[in-house]
Amino acid sequence: MKITFWGAVGGTTGTRTLLEVRGRKMLLDCGLFQGRREEAEAKNRRFPFAADEVDCVVLSHAHIDHSGNLPGLVRDGFRGSIHATRATIDLCDPMLRDSAHIQERDVEFVNKRRARKKQKPKEPIYTEAHAEQTQPLFVGHDYHRPFDVIPGVRATFFDAGHILGSAITVLEIEEGGRRLRLGFTGDLGRPDLPIIRDPETVEGLEVLITESTYGNRLHEETGEIPDLMAGLLNRVHARGGKVIIPAFAVGRTQEIVSVLKDLFSSQRVPRMPVYVDSPLAVNVTDVFRRHPECFDEDALALLNEEHTDPFGFRLMHYVRDVEESKALNTKDGPMIIISASGMCEAGRILHHLRNNIEDPRALILVVGFMAENTLGRKLVEGWDEVRIFGEEFPRQAEVAVLNAFSAHADRNELLAWTTGLGPPPQRCFVVHGETDQAEAFAARLSEQKGFDDVRIPELGRAYTL
Ligand SMILES: [Zn+2]
Repeated sequence: MKITFWGAVGGTTGTRTLLEVRGRKMLLDCGLFQGRREEAEAKNRRFPFAADEVDCVVLSHAHIDHSGNLPGLVRDGFRGSIHATRATIDLCDPMLRDSAHIQERDVEFVNKRRARKKQKPKEPIYTEAHAEQTQPLFVGHDYHRPFDVIPGVRATFFDAGHILGSAITVLEIEEGGRRLRLGFTGDLGRPDLPIIRDPETVEGLEVLITESTYGNRLHEETGEIPDLMAGLLNRVHARGGKVIIPAFAVGRTQEIVSVLKDLFSSQRVPRMPVYVDSPLAVNVTDVFRRHPECFDEDALALLNEEHTDPFGFRLMHYVRDVEESKALNTKDGPMIIISASGMCEAGRILHHLRNNIEDPRALILVVGFMAENTLGRKLVEGWDEVRIFGEEFPRQAEVAVLNAFSAHADRNELLAWTTGLGPPPQRCFVVHGETDQAEAFAARLSEQKGFDDVRIPELGRAYTL
């Protein structure tokens, strides 16, 4: 049995791990690379292995850096099964279509420029048709129920507590009379996130593949979220400003909505309208409503005892329509606008930022990771002038950052999880972290008793298990 890491090495995107057992091939995740445009595009256009030789995929969760190149695999001839939890499958439907739509729109924009220079037009990385062909290949599974993947490999999903439907994958592998239990964290969540359950522990692993996004950082406690939010919202309400929250459509938006609902119903913040202004977020919220089997006790109690919708309340408005979105610009605050994209690089959030960046009463509330070179990162770093739609604006609005919303375990939570697995795995591969984070976490893990073989894999190198 052999394992090769084809992504999420030296970074956090493009997760693709190829496993070969008894001459058959399977993939753990098939994500898109994100980051420097040309480099990412080249990696996304061509697979380093033959897509039509892959027998099946086991998918940990719906985030695009894990699922986003499934349509590319289909474009290149893959016709096998894609195993995932049912919630992941339902999330992938709007997300992969949206991703295809973005690819098509990006290429249209680029081709206009190329046409002016008399250059040949480019094809999108994949199209909505490829995304549509992907959906029927999915096979849904419940947590804790083992299923056969390829001959000699049986898989079981455990809750990763990261986003709705996210899974830790455990593989029982048998080849030539040898048995091996391998665990892949996918993205590991943290205790006490709103709505979803806590990460589960899995035991008896011989090989562990672990993420390390925040392998060297600590977050604020999740329990501090309501207090921190209440403080900020009261302040902005008093000065009559708008609160602009750039957020990812999946997970973060729904968590913020459920926290706001609590704050309003306990009257800890004054009443003000809330707008979720992102068509993808609206579709994804519908998927959340269909999967209460993934909710934690608090969210379930709310659903069962009070018969209320955790994502709806009287002040809450979901905005699909573009005109309605634009109309928000002319309305006066106080109000809260939650909009995508999470890193402020595209989408409706840009209009809201342009309209409020010069208003000292406004608050831009950052609740997620902002990658280098994005507008979001510049706001976090406190730039006094920022460029939006190609125009410079002086920043007068207040900017605040809340890291407590992170959906990834921090260093201590990752360590607690990995050392809580029972007997330590004989071998650990540390992936899905920028180099400083992955190295620091690998070093920490090696110091723990029994963790004798901890390594960061090399991209494209095959390891014999
Ligand atoms: Zn994720």
